[in-house]
This record gives sequence, C-alpha cells and structure tokens, in this order.
Amino acid sequence: MSATNELPQAGSGTAAFSAEASTSSPAFEQWRKSMAQFTGLGLSDSEQAERQRRLELQTLEKDWDRCEGWKKELMTTSPMIVFLLKHLKMAGCEFPSSAMQCHPCDPSRAGGFSPAHGILLCQNRVSSKKHMEDTLAHELIHAYDHCKFKVDWMNLRHHACTEIRAANLSGDCRWSREVQRGHYAFSKQHQACVKRRAVLSVKDHPNCKSVEDAERAVNEVWDSCFKDTRPFDEIY
Ligand SMILES: [Zn+2]
Repeated sequence: MSATNELPQAGSGTAAFSAEASTSSPAFEQWRKSMAQFTGLGLSDSEQAERQRRLELQTLEKDWDRCEGWKKELMTTSPMIVFLLKHLKMAGCEFPSSAMQCHPCDPSRAGGFSPAHGILLCQNRVSSKKHMEDTLAHELIHAYDHCKFKVDWMNLRHHACTEIRAANLSGDCRWSREVQRGHYAFSKQHQACVKRRAVLSVKDHPNCKSVEDAERAVNEVWDSCFKDTRPFDEIY
C-alpha cells in the first residue's frame, strides 16, 4: 500500500509523512532490517522464528539443488551409474531420474531403496559427489536385485544377500573400480568391510532381533551372494 492512499487530504498527509521520515527513513529502516536478518541481532521472537524458518528453507533448497545436480551429472558421466542404469533397463526396470529422489533424512542413513517408492538420496547426508555415487550405486544394486531376483524384503536371508551384493559391488568398500576392470582378487580386508556393512544394514531390518541374528543371516548366504557379481560379470 502507498502512503497517499491512506490520506484524506494531500496537505496534512505530506506533513505527517515527512515527520515520520525524519525519525526513521525508509532506507535506514530497510538497512536495519536486512542487517538484523543477516546477524539475527535485534530481532523480536517472532522475527527470530521467521528468520530461522527462512534459513532452514534456504538450506533445504540449497541441499536439494546440489543433490539433484550431482544426480543428473552421475547419470550421464559416472561409468558405474551409467552401467547399472543400463542393466536395470535391460532387465525391464528402467530407472528414470524421477525414481531417484533427493530428500532430507535423519542422520542414520545416506540413502534407501523401496520397491514402492524407488531410491531415496539423502540430500543433507551426502557429503560429496563421490559419496553420492557410492550411495546411488548401492541403492541401484538393491533395485537391480529387486527387479531381477524377486527379493522378498521381509525375509532376512534375502535382505542379507542383497546387502552383501550392494556393499561388495558399489563403492562402499572402495572396490568398484577394480570390479569394473575385471579384477576379482577380493582381499581379506575387502571381505571384512562387506560383511561388516551388510550386518549393519540387516541389523536395522524389522524382523531382525539382534546383531547375532544379522550376523547369522549374513553368514548363511555369504558364499553364494558374495560370489554373485552380476551384472558386472556380464561385461566380458
Ligand atoms: Zn542397502
């Protein structure tokens, strides 16, 4: 609204406006407000809450933009991601960009796969493009298993198997490059890493009662699932 709209007469209005302007000019007031927003000092409680809310929204937006940007780049430039997307498509489960969604998450995870919702990328938990590549590869291996092998996600052994494969074949244990080159000389250290990560994931399964339960499930399927490097062994 403008000052003149509120004024019944031009004469008295001009006087009222200039008196107000002399105590606090609009430019000064604007500057004061922007500084207060910037520093957070001198704000009322409701202004503080509003500032906090705006900062959180800005962070959400910034994280989302960064996450989406990395995702789009990886989908065309990462040999690992391009390879997995190609094999998902060949298996009849094409994964478009919209099936891999960036969202804020709690601190316990970096990503997730759900047969109903696709892949979740935790925009606030993924620290670099490389980390996102590993996370996305891990979830795409779950998606591949779900598409190709009809995983029963409530079955602990099925879940253990796909977690072993995801940890083994994604960059989780820093092995993906070697696997892509066709080197399958898995070191003891690599095996220990895969096992540890698979147990950690299985432990969170609703049907898993204890770490021992998770370890048992992982050990039961270990030999066949660790050896199963599909789709990577189809390169040559
Ligand atoms: Zn997993």
